[in-house]
Amino acid sequence: MQRIPRDQSVFSFSPQHAPVAQCTSGDVVVFETFDCYSNKITREDQVVRPSGWDNTNPATGPLYVTDAKPGDILKVEILQIQLDSQGTMRAGPGSGALGHVLEERKTKIIPIRDGKALFNDKLALEVNPMIGVIGTAPQGEAISTGTPGPHGGNMDCKRITKGSILYLPVHVPGALLAMGDVHALMGDGEVVICGLEIAAEITVKVQLLKGSKLPLPLAISGGQAITIASARTLDEAAVQATEMMHDFIRKALNMDPQEAGMLLSIVGNLRICQIVDPLMTVRMEFPLWILEKYGYVLP
Ligand code: CA
Ligand code: CA
Repeated sequence: MQRIPRDQSVFSFSPQHAPVAQCTSGDVVVFETFDCYSNKITREDQVVRPSGWDNTNPATGPLYVTDAKPGDILKVEILQIQLDSQGTMRAGPGSGALGHVLEERKTKIIPIRDGKALFNDKLALEVNPMIGVIGTAPQGEAISTGTPGPHGGNMDCKRITKGSILYLPVHVPGALLAMGDVHALMGDGEVVICGLEIAAEITVKVQLLKGSKLPLPLAISGGQAITIASARTLDEAAVQATEMMHDFIRKALNMDPQEAGMLLSIVGNLRICQIVDPLMTVRMEFPLWILEKYGYVLP
């Protein structure tokens, strides 16, 4: 099994990055990842100012997928997310949704033992390992690993966990897949601009789909099909994620637009992924069993 070491990482998704590894469709690859601070914060007395998006979120890769061409879809199955033994959090003035409330900066180191994050003496929280940053290269200009978008990137969607599937667009030859920014645990919103940031080893199976049509990025997780959209405001992202799902189910279920809209309005759930990155991210979740009932099979 191929393994990409964590020091082979990038701070943007870009067609300019030279691939650090290559695989073919169907291969299983392990991505060793730094935490979003490049594993540089290991003690609580390291209270450093946020350094901006340019050197946050190292993403391991990029991986070149043989024969991937623009217009293809990359299907990434997340087989395993193995966490390090401790994670890091930071909170302070000027950062995230509470930046105007917090007066001092604080760093917290949180040990992980037996699948629990030991937040303090009272709270041992069950971990839910997820990938914050995962994407492919865009066609044109580089996109920082701090920013989410149609290429994936910093979506901070807590549904991207072990056992889930993520479909990503291929914009450039080889797709150039990269990932990092694993969280041992994160709430929807990621309000202080970090999850429980942690180094990890992510095992994925990568498959290339030719001639398939899906709204991208699309995740399959927890019995739901999930469209993910990012925009300047939550309102815009919410409408985009809804439109993506509406268009998808209309065709998949062969419904007229009104009928598909009504169904979405009663069984679809709009949820916030994050409100702290340069663009806001929202997801629309739709039950997989309904797709199955109509005989729709995901590629
Ligand atoms: Ca993130
Ligand atoms: Ca993060």
